[in-house]
Amino acid sequence: MIHSISVLGSTGSIGRQSLAAAERLGIRVTALAARRDVGLLEEQIRRVRPAYAAIYDPKAAAALRIAVGDLDVEIGEGMEGLRRAATVDCEAVVTAVSGSVGLRPTLDAIAAGKRICLANKETLVCAGTIVMKAAAEKGAQIVPVDSEHSAIFQCLEGRREQLHKILLTGSGGPFRGWTRAETAAVTPEQAVRHPNWNMGAKISVDSATMMNKGLEFIEAMHLFGVTPDDIQVVIHPQSVIHSMVELVDGTVLAQLAVPDMGLPIQYAMTWSERTVSPYERLDFWRMRDLTFEEPDLEKTPCLALAMDCARRGGVAPAVMSAANEAAVALFLAGRIGYNDIYDRVAAAVARTPAAADPTLEDILAADAEARRWAGQTIISP
Ligand code: MG
Repeated sequence: MIHSISVLGSTGSIGRQSLAAAERLGIRVTALAARRDVGLLEEQIRRVRPAYAAIYDPKAAAALRIAVGDLDVEIGEGMEGLRRAATVDCEAVVTAVSGSVGLRPTLDAIAAGKRICLANKETLVCAGTIVMKAAAEKGAQIVPVDSEHSAIFQCLEGRREQLHKILLTGSGGPFRGWTRAETAAVTPEQAVRHPNWNMGAKISVDSATMMNKGLEFIEAMHLFGVTPDDIQVVIHPQSVIHSMVELVDGTVLAQLAVPDMGLPIQYAMTWSERTVSPYERLDFWRMRDLTFEEPDLEKTPCLALAMDCARRGGVAPAVMSAANEAAVALFLAGRIGYNDIYDRVAAAVARTPAAADPTLEDILAADAEARRWAGQTIISP
């Protein structure tokens, strides 16, 4: 159990739930960081009274400084502010920012010996080898917040060396079974409406395309030190089982709970203890059938692409993730179609030369170029 945290991405879905969990658990919040929502960040600063707060968008920083001018809080901005929020006086950092912007702050927090409550999957997708090596060298604990990885983490506690295979479950999203022709006209409003989980816009679109499962596939490889062949994706539409592990003797352990992100958030904060939570309990007398399917990789090309990038390694996962961020942003803004997301991301990966053992600088450069290229409204070579 930790006693103080910094929350990066505090105005997003996971960030807001992290603050609620911290308040409930009596954990002090020493820093907050957000992208640009001055109104909500001000409200949060007034409520939790952190010593430090950062806003990523420099244009919003002046407004925030005026808004909280009466309070004793230091305000930072830009990447520098975000990195500072990751290293303030605290035991753990919740990395709930969306996208690869979370990479450097996470590495800073690891270098400062903080526990990472990891909610930013792009960090491991882009630079998993570098991040896990840094954590091992520093002895920094990385406790996953993503529900699937939290489930795997919980199933593996005390039995890492008995692992045979990870069974990564996914609901299949709102368009499970749809063909490319059927998804062509999908609107942002349809794509952000997930049947089981209530999440932010970017991750909801990723769940619809199943890029989210692909990102989680790569995240799991790094987090648990396994190869792509050690991970099997299982479609489980009810989202009751959050993932499973198969042990060497064939025993399968699963973690089940209601689909509420509050639970894995709380567990990352209370680990290695457990405390009472306010969430609904599973009722096995009323539960509908739990069903399982093989993913249809023809109908989920983003998942197939991610599994391919996982095998390629190098900068391929970073390029894929950055291009996906750019393409999803364009889709949410109504500037490209739903199927264009996959087309752009696949083309961005295809035009990037392979690079073995990239440095952090190589990864960030490939990320920036992929983001620029995939973020153009009209693609020019
Ligand atoms: Mg997940």
